[in-house]
Amino acid sequence: MQAQKKGVLFVFSGPSGVGKGTLKAKLIEEFGEEIAFSVSATTRAPRPGEIDGKDYFFITRQEFEQRIANHDFLEHAQFAGNLYGTPKPYVVNLLDQGKNVLLEIEVQGAAQVKASMPECVSVFILPPSEEVLEHRLRGRGTETEEKIEARLATAKQELTHAQEYDYRIVNGSDLEAAYQALRGIYVKYTR
Ligand code: ADP
Ligand code: 5GP
Repeated sequence: MQAQKKGVLFVFSGPSGVGKGTLKAKLIEEFGEEIAFSVSATTRAPRPGEIDGKDYFFITRQEFEQRIANHDFLEHAQFAGNLYGTPKPYVVNLLDQGKNVLLEIEVQGAAQVKASMPECVSVFILPPSEEVLEHRLRGRGTETEEKIEARLATAKQELTHAQEYDYRIVNGSDLEAAYQALRGIYVKYTR
């Protein structure tokens, strides 16, 4: 009997508001049956409509720190004052079952994953300009003004890491074009 083929790990980053969630949803819509997407743990408060266990596992800082001590995370990082981490056993099990796994994480965590699992495929989503990014982030309407300012400052810093990724995709005015670029990368590594 042939051994189960392992899944491919995709790591996705890009500044807040660039369209990662939108692109990820399109990929899942088309390839949902073969992709699993990891649900991260975070100390951030849920946004209206977010569901515990689906969007994130919303946990306390104390619980998060305990899980770091237990080596429960594949990677973890601080972003805009909150902690975020990828549950390791969950991701490893899915890959072993042959599922392709998608991690949508920020740049520090992505660097940790690339270091420990260099076979992963990393993709950075870029905005066409800083102005467009600001417009999208404000348009989404999920953050307070103070949080928007903090995320825009972080975004500038994050953009300097784009070169560390295997691929870069600009999500400009044509969402479909960005999706086709992403789809092409996905298909290349999974067929
Ligand atoms: P992220 O997950 O990277 O924070 P989102 O996917 O939530 O970003 O997108 C931020 C906002 O920008 C959303 O309101 C989304 O509908 C919009 N958006 C995403 N891609 C595009 C695009 N190519 N053109 C215009 N608006 C977009
Ligand atoms: P948000 O608060 O907008 O949901 O996420 C903020 C940032 O944290 C985004 O860049 C998102 O990709 C990143 N993020 C979400 N989950 C994780 C995780 O498990 N690890 C890391 N390092 N970053 C994450």
